[in-house]
Amino acid sequence: MGKKRKWKVPKVALVQAPTRVIVVGAGLAGLTAARALHDAGIEVVVLEASDHVGGRAATIKLSGIPVDLGAAWVHGIKGSPTADAFKAVGSELVYDDWLGMVAHDRHGRVPDDLLNPAIEWADELVDDSADLAQAIGGDPPVIDGVERWLNDRGLTGREREAFAVLLRFGFEHDIGGPAEVGSLSHWDSGTLPKGGDYVPIGGYEPLTNALSAGLDVRLNQPVHQVSWTATGVEVSTTHHTLSASHVVVTAPLGVLKANAIRFTPDLPAAHHDAWGRLEMGALEKVILVFDEALDAAGRDTVLHVDPSNPSALPVVNDISRFTGGSVWVAYSSGDWSALERPKMSDDALVALTLERLATGLGTDIPAPVATWVTRWADNPFTRGSYSFLPVGSSPADFDACAEPVGGRVLFAGEHTDADWYQTTHGAIRSGLREARRLGVRPVWPPACLVPVAEDPLASDTAT
Ligand SMILES: Cc1cc2nc3c(=O)[nH]c(=O)nc-3n(C[C@H](O)[C@H](O)[C@H](O)COP(=O)(O)OP(=O)(O)OC[C@H]3O[C@@H](n4cnc5c(N)ncnc54)[C@H](O)[C@@H]3O)c2cc1C
Repeated sequence: MGKKRKWKVPKVALVQAPTRVIVVGAGLAGLTAARALHDAGIEVVVLEASDHVGGRAATIKLSGIPVDLGAAWVHGIKGSPTADAFKAVGSELVYDDWLGMVAHDRHGRVPDDLLNPAIEWADELVDDSADLAQAIGGDPPVIDGVERWLNDRGLTGREREAFAVLLRFGFEHDIGGPAEVGSLSHWDSGTLPKGGDYVPIGGYEPLTNALSAGLDVRLNQPVHQVSWTATGVEVSTTHHTLSASHVVVTAPLGVLKANAIRFTPDLPAAHHDAWGRLEMGALEKVILVFDEALDAAGRDTVLHVDPSNPSALPVVNDISRFTGGSVWVAYSSGDWSALERPKMSDDALVALTLERLATGLGTDIPAPVATWVTRWADNPFTRGSYSFLPVGSSPADFDACAEPVGGRVLFAGEHTDADWYQTTHGAIRSGLREARRLGVRPVWPPACLVPVAEDPLASDTAT
């Protein structure tokens, strides 16, 4: 048997022992912190702005099929708190062995032998990104690295166009932000647990439900003010003000950047500076459910190559084998997703996705039986998909976001883990870190995560 890979909750200086803790936000960071504190016998209240727990880990049922609007993959299963949690809940984790891509540009189908090297080279480009940045000099954006890479290989014409769109997608999908803004030097920053990408069958909901069971979670309670002194905190929603010895703020970076929560007295400049330098990406999905499998000839990914509009729903991906139904998801990110997509109606986005599918697969596409269009960037409680490092920022900014203030105001969330930012495993670890800061020795997975009895794909409830 292989050796178990270990992950660690970072050591942090303790703050004064808590008597009562308010956690702002019931995403994975907030639920994890609250669970650890609750299990250690500390009184915890979780104030959540939206009407659901899980935050950006949000599963809905479309035609009875569970689909994830936000986090869908477990990135690495060896040494990942997310994978450990899903195993404890009893969710099956299925390896995402991408079946293959079919690409289309204005000339028609892009031949496989022209595209395949680009797919292999995408990983190489990420590995070389810091060296490329050094060779270019200064603090260049990702797009400069992509251009340099394509020039170094002497690529021109159709091949160059396909590679450029694919490499841009590689960055913008992973990072969420535009290739013109993302930092080339930090493209490869952070690490991932080993093992590749897995999909939890039934989605993230079994985990977030189990984690929140029995906690005092109060939904529809947007916090707009946190007041703190040397002895405690007061946290205000539109309905009331609650007192506690400490607060753990897990609101997403986008919410903090927008100053949607006022801190009194104000936080040190280092927090505002770090929030200002970091950015939120705009990864969004258009989800289509069909009543029968599409004729995809063994491929699971359609790439649309449009150099004049490279981030406009370039990829549509078949996730049917993870869902128990015929489900395709189109992704967009970068500038188009942040600026142009919000102007489009749901119907227009669905129509564009259907067009991409029809062109890419070269076949008629039936009308979907259910659809969903995400709007993470417009959601006042997320204001984007996840944090990324733009030009001018550095991973130290994530550390600054994690700094407690006055021994009373603590922070968790994916944007506070400099190594595992953007991910559910980063969010979970950040919640454990803050529980530790409050003097609790966190246990993961916690005892509440036990196998869910029912078959997650068996439901026939349409939403
Ligand atoms: C489209 C998309 C795809 C993704 N794919 C993956 C993936 O495949 N794998 C992966 O690991 N990660 C993925 N992620 C990222 C992952 O979802 C996040 O990193 C993680 O869920 C963040 O958890 P969190 O607890 O830090 O924040 P959140 O989940 O955002 O939780 C914060 C909570 O705070 C609440 N809140 C906000 N403002 C207030 C307020 N004023 N008062 C009270 N509550 C407030 C929010 O409603 C939210 O519930 C994806 C995200 C998106 C959007």
